Amino acid sequence: MLAAQSIRSSAQVVLSPLPSREQWVGCLVGQCIGDAVGAPVEGLPPKDCQKHVEKVLRQGILDDTFLGQSRFGQYTDDSQLARELLLSLVEHGQFHIADYAGRIARLFRSGEVVGAGKATAEVARRLSEGVAPDEAGIPAPSAGNGSAMRVAPIGLWYADQPEALIAAAKEQSRITHQDNRCAAGAVAVAGAVALALRGGSLSPEPFLAELSEWVRAVDQTVAFDVYQLSSWVSLSPDAASTFMARAGLCPGYEGEWQGISGYVVSSVLWSLYSFLRSPSDFLQTIETAVAVGGDVDTTAAMAGAMSGAYLSVTKLPVHLCERVTDQGRWGLSELTQLAERAHLAWTEPRRR
Ligand SMILES: [Mg+2]
Repeated sequence: MLAAQSIRSSAQVVLSPLPSREQWVGCLVGQCIGDAVGAPVEGLPPKDCQKHVEKVLRQGILDDTFLGQSRFGQYTDDSQLARELLLSLVEHGQFHIADYAGRIARLFRSGEVVGAGKATAEVARRLSEGVAPDEAGIPAPSAGNGSAMRVAPIGLWYADQPEALIAAAKEQSRITHQDNRCAAGAVAVAGAVALALRGGSLSPEPFLAELSEWVRAVDQTVAFDVYQLSSWVSLSPDAASTFMARAGLCPGYEGEWQGISGYVVSSVLWSLYSFLRSPSDFLQTIETAVAVGGDVDTTAAMAGAMSGAYLSVTKLPVHLCERVTDQGRWGLSELTQLAERAHLAWTEPRRR
């Protein structure tokens, strides 16, 4: 808790050493890999997702058919929108709500968005019709994970400025989701990326205590769930998923999902669980994130971003890195160039 207190009293944290270029690339590419592994089985029950990860991650069989493509590696809206967020941060040097909202609207208008959620699609339509970015978001109590799934670049860009990280994660969330729990989920994911960038040995309890302090600035209930996760990390996935699938939901609520739903609290908690259970093993993290069933392109995208930021791209499996693609564009080399360009822009003023 000491670290959190020192952060509250200061707008800037001195990171030494600075996060590496490879960690930034790892975050972006790790997100895309998780997303691409989960996408073909999004919405399916645990037994199908378990078979899928066994085939893709354990046996290395990469012949999924997804959206009519026979090659593994297509990622979805989660990572398309994260990439756009990083592009926007590089272009403006800070989070710029109008620019990012414009990018969301353009991606949807282009027809190139893959596997989009209903809430974000509806908001993109409103944005295209000229509704202001701070008024277009779906109101509470709709609380999907659409603004948490894309937020990882905020964790990179504001890694040493917790207050700015919280503000930017919140602001980007409200473009599509007005519910406070969505903003809190976005702070949790961006915050986890920022904490992962510190590297070193990682133990869940202090990690989650510091993260929950940041989330508390937005929503106390979600902050408590994040804090409580430290007592769930040691549970098996079967046991943990029964708790987490229901975290933050009203008693008696029955959803249609088997596994982890698209509700922001349960999916963000599951991504944190997947990362913190095996911080030194990217494949295991993605396996845990997907095998649970449900909204698994998103749980794995968020967990992949955290794991990639922690481990750096050099520790990600090369054969999976080489496959990520967005309809033939924005594969490994373009994503690497973008993350390196962003990293250079970020580090230059900090080296002076
Ligand atoms: Mg998706």
